[in-house]
Amino acid sequence: MYSIDLTGKTAIVFGVANHRSIAWHIAQEIESAGAKVYITYQNERLRSGVEKLVEGNTNMDILECDVSSDTNIENTFNQIKGEVNSLDIIVHSIAFANREDLSGDFSKTGREGFQVALEVSAYSLIPIARYAAPLMGEGGSIMGLTFSASDRVFPGYNIMGTAKAALENEIKQLAYELGPKGIRVNGLSPGPLDTLSSRAIHGYVDMKKVQAERSPIQRNITHMEVSSAALFFASNLSTGITGHILPIDGGYQIAGV
Ligand code: NAD
Repeated sequence: MYSIDLTGKTAIVFGVANHRSIAWHIAQEIESAGAKVYITYQNERLRSGVEKLVEGNTNMDILECDVSSDTNIENTFNQIKGEVNSLDIIVHSIAFANREDLSGDFSKTGREGFQVALEVSAYSLIPIARYAAPLMGEGGSIMGLTFSASDRVFPGYNIMGTAKAALENEIKQLAYELGPKGIRVNGLSPGPLDTLSSRAIHGYVDMKKVQAERSPIQRNITHMEVSSAALFFASNLSTGITGHILPIDGGYQIAGV
């Protein structure tokens, strides 16, 4: 009989904005399994909301980290280094693109918009892995949230599809580099879920409807289905898996119609 017990483990979950954030659902799942969880939020504007989410939970702490600067990322790890003996689990659940780059013609994507989207949504995993790895003395699990627009076209996803393609490639390269240290790096690729980010995507509502109609499971997936897959990646049940992108899409990707 297998059970998941993360007692004594430490996790950092990057990217909580509110109660709908995928990061928040994953943080709760990992904490329920016994881990100490540090949650990061982007900026002061989000702080009081995130504080309220963790209120009264002594196994959760919050830290501010805007990943558009490597110094901020390094500071986050330095803060944690002083408090814990080892680090075991990292969740990267961050994405951003300028609103004008999430609709219309992809060919109109500007240089600045490309840079912002790729830097925040994809590059940031690299310094996160760089600063995390030395603290993962007993090995660990790093996971990133991606979407199947990485290799298929979803109108409105535009530059975020390019960012997800980069993120998925990084996941594989990091898995290869960190494998010998016992650190696994994987991606979770959920179907559409209502969050702040998804709502910013032009055409999201239609996309969600189509996925529910065409998926073998005949419905949209839930936040909980993503957080339980994350728990699997965080645990020893998945020690044989790295560099893998796991679709949590009710089978939508295999549907030929
Ligand atoms: P969300 O808006 O709750 O989360 C996105 C997070 O990114 C927010 O917490 C935001 O503050 C953070 N962020 C943006 N710029 C940042 C920066 N410069 N520094 C630090 N943090 C920054 O939305 P979500 O849907 O929970 O998104 C989480 C991840 O899941 C994203 O990578 C998204 O692409 C991915 N995803 C979402 C869906 C979906 O349908 N919601 C589907 C597949 C993948």
